[in-house]
Amino acid sequence: MKNSPKLLDGKWLASKLYQKISTELETILPSFSRAPGLAVVLVGDNPASQVYVANKSRAAGRCGFKIFDRKLPANVSQSELQGTLEELNKNQEVDGILLQLPLPRGLDQNQALRTIDPAKDADGLTPLNQGLMLRGGSELLPCTPLGALRLIDLALSELGSESDVSYDDIAPADLAGKSAIVIGRSILVGKPVSMLLLERNATVLMAHSKSANLPTLCAQADIVVAAVGVPQLVRSQWLKKNAIVIDVGINKTETGKLVGDVAFEEVLEKCSAITPVPGGVGPMTVAMLLRNTFEAYKKRATIKGK
Ligand code: NAD
Repeated sequence: MKNSPKLLDGKWLASKLYQKISTELETILPSFSRAPGLAVVLVGDNPASQVYVANKSRAAGRCGFKIFDRKLPANVSQSELQGTLEELNKNQEVDGILLQLPLPRGLDQNQALRTIDPAKDADGLTPLNQGLMLRGGSELLPCTPLGALRLIDLALSELGSESDVSYDDIAPADLAGKSAIVIGRSILVGKPVSMLLLERNATVLMAHSKSANLPTLCAQADIVVAAVGVPQLVRSQWLKKNAIVIDVGINKTETGKLVGDVAFEEVLEKCSAITPVPGGVGPMTVAMLLRNTFEAYKKRATIKGK
């Protein structure tokens, strides 16, 4: 019989989170002094970054957030960039600061991230929040890993995009007894995904470009997270039957088609659930940016009359 895995629809799950945020904002806004503010800092004119930033601003606008756009030229100096971030740190109307990465050559990304006030760290990438995440104590978690985790929750729940449910109906899954492999060890995706899976009690294997025998390592895993940047690297014969596959990769083929790090069509015959590319992890990354900004807002914004 043909295998029919669950398609993990990130657009649908993101729309459920937007509904939740919009409804909650509508309720609390009358008592708060202002709307949530998201600052979007884009340096240079990388076309992919421009698209990502536009998507993020559009989603934030739809949820009723105020956007603070800061576009800087590719030849901006490190001190000017940090000056902009410091200005946003001080701006009382800004709750979340997104610095779109990667930065153009010549700019120090880590130094720039260190400048962002951890209380406004919408991407969860400042050293303080990353350290707190290791201890299981950060509220502002990196967006792509958080989105990937929620898609795993969706995979393990009975619910799907045909269900009439709210975002919180999809419960955080306990991954005790499950094994996971994360392919990729970047600070943006691979490492934090591994930490979040560990926090949920999964047994986690972290693989990367220097790992030997990737197919054998994958064969044990109930959950495979691919965050590599190599088109269709993960093959069907690598997988354990009924594995959950989360494809973080976004790669453009020579014909301009977007593909993930997983050979999607081939893997369908083997997995129990899979994220499409596009439409899986990408929309959840944007949604988590808004989630973080909203959490920061609720802590920062003053209640009228107080
Ligand atoms: P990165 O280049 O910083 O890291 C890639 C990782 O993959 C490295 O740790 C490296 O060790 C590992 N790697 C490279 N080649 C490998 C191989 N052949 N076998 C095993 N491991 C290998 O990239 P990143 O920022 O972590 O992003 C990874 C992918 O995810 C990219 O395609 C990126 O575009 C995509 N991405 C998507 C989203 C989203 O919202 N969907 C967000 C961030 C990144």
